[in-house]
Amino acid sequence: LPEVAEVRIFQTAERRGRRIIAVGSGKGGVGKSTVSANLALALARQGRKVGLVDADIYGPSQPRLLATEGMRPMAKGQQLEPVMSPHGFPMLSMGQLVEPGKAIAWRGPMAGNALGQLIDADWGDTEILVVDLPPGTGDVQLSMIQKHKPAGAVIISTPQDLALIDATRAIDLFASAGVPIIGLVENMSGYACPHCGETSDPFGSGGAQSAAMDMRLPFLGRIPLAMAIREASDAGTLAQVAAFEGIAAELGHWLENKD
Ligand code: ADP
Repeated sequence: LPEVAEVRIFQTAERRGRRIIAVGSGKGGVGKSTVSANLALALARQGRKVGLVDADIYGPSQPRLLATEGMRPMAKGQQLEPVMSPHGFPMLSMGQLVEPGKAIAWRGPMAGNALGQLIDADWGDTEILVVDLPPGTGDVQLSMIQKHKPAGAVIISTPQDLALIDATRAIDLFASAGVPIIGLVENMSGYACPHCGETSDPFGSGGAQSAAMDMRLPFLGRIPLAMAIREASDAGTLAQVAAFEGIAAELGHWLENKD
């Protein structure tokens, strides 16, 4: 028993210095994973010690985005050891806890335990843990809020109204649990045609920004719908898009002001 208590104290102390940034969205397919991966990279480039947890039980896509497919985490005693991505920061994914290619029907408690294993892994001196949540407001989000106390949440939405109505539910979930909303990110905002050069707005534009203003929430920035982003995601190379740097800088300021 004393041993267990010691381990707990150590983990709590260690975690005190580590902040969790939860990245959520109201629905799937809005680019939450893409933004999480690119924000983690941008934060790492700012010189921050960042790690990424892929908690998306429905479609864990970080192993592909971060080019760690086929890399399985090792266990060090009771703890998992994160996998080092070629981008220079460590990561762990729900997808790495199951047999490759096997879909599994996660029940609530199981998903909660798996999330705990990823978050309480041996993250060493990692200061910021970016957590890519599943879309919506289910068991994993609840367990995230109740057990792991994120420092703040970033909400990703497309400019589309429907995505925003869903996003509002995700915002409410965090806000009602006292998790500060760091801000909203509008993804797939405007499309620059590589052929004619004209910019169009397939999903409308500015929706997330005006929603953020209405809700008196900070707006962190927009990311265009860009072929380069989609291609880099599929290739696991991550796109170098200035918009991500800007949002990561906003995140950095937020964290500093919180200190
Ligand atoms: P989510 O995590 O919200 O389900 P993903 O990050 O998996 O969404 O993105 C869904 C799809 O959209 C992926 O194919 C991804 O490459 C693509 N995508 C996301 N954001 C952009 C963007 N800004 N420009 C182009 N494609 C994008």
